[in-house]
Amino acid sequence: MLSDAEKKLYSRQIMMIGEEGQERLKKSRAVVAGCGGLGSPIINYLAVAGVGHIRIIDMDSVELSNLNRQILHWHYDMGKKKVCSAGEKLKDINPFITIETIGDRITDDNAKELLGDADVIIDALDNYDTRFLLNRIAVENNIALIHGAVHGIHGQMTTILPGKTPCIQCIFKRKPPKELFPIIGTTAGVVGTMQANEAIKYLLGEEDLYTGRMVVWDGKSGTTEELKISRNPSCEICWSCSEK
Ligand SMILES: [Zn+2]
Repeated sequence: MLSDAEKKLYSRQIMMIGEEGQERLKKSRAVVAGCGGLGSPIINYLAVAGVGHIRIIDMDSVELSNLNRQILHWHYDMGKKKVCSAGEKLKDINPFITIETIGDRITDDNAKELLGDADVIIDALDNYDTRFLLNRIAVENNIALIHGAVHGIHGQMTTILPGKTPCIQCIFKRKPPKELFPIIGTTAGVVGTMQANEAIKYLLGEEDLYTGRMVVWDGKSGTTEELKISRNPSCEICWSCSEK
């Protein structure tokens, strides 16, 4: 049940989704992997929307070179674990929700425990090794995964529904090499906000999602393009799982 304060806090969105929708968000558990450029807007918007339980996972600490885009972290946070920096602010951003912070790397050993109970997993990572692991756990446990990635002034997003849509392995086949890539903060802001929007829609049970297509943001022209994406019948991650 929503308290009177919660009804007031969310009143402008309850006009759209009803108290039932708001209660649905309150009961939801979102796991956000990554608390940097993409994670900052994602976590912020999930929190203000009233997603009741948000688990944020990131092993890194705040560095000066993060601050052109990682808007949950401020100058006085330098050296703190990113999850602590974010967690402290989120308590003030929305005291009605539960924030769980995990300052650890996602590995084969802990991935099931960290991700397996999520209603939705959100990929706010900057590396493909962990992204592929996230994808495998999402597929094996039939959990929706909202993928987002950024580079420079370009970004992309798609929603993966295991067994129904292409998974990350279908799309990328092999991992791009690790690199220190350029990035302007607004790219992460746009793509992260699209991911948060998609997660909220999914948690509310809406079916009109970015599935089977990748939206590509071009910040230079300020436009988006949609690419059709298909499942790969030889994908060793999602195809075999869906046939089991
Ligand atoms: Zn696949």
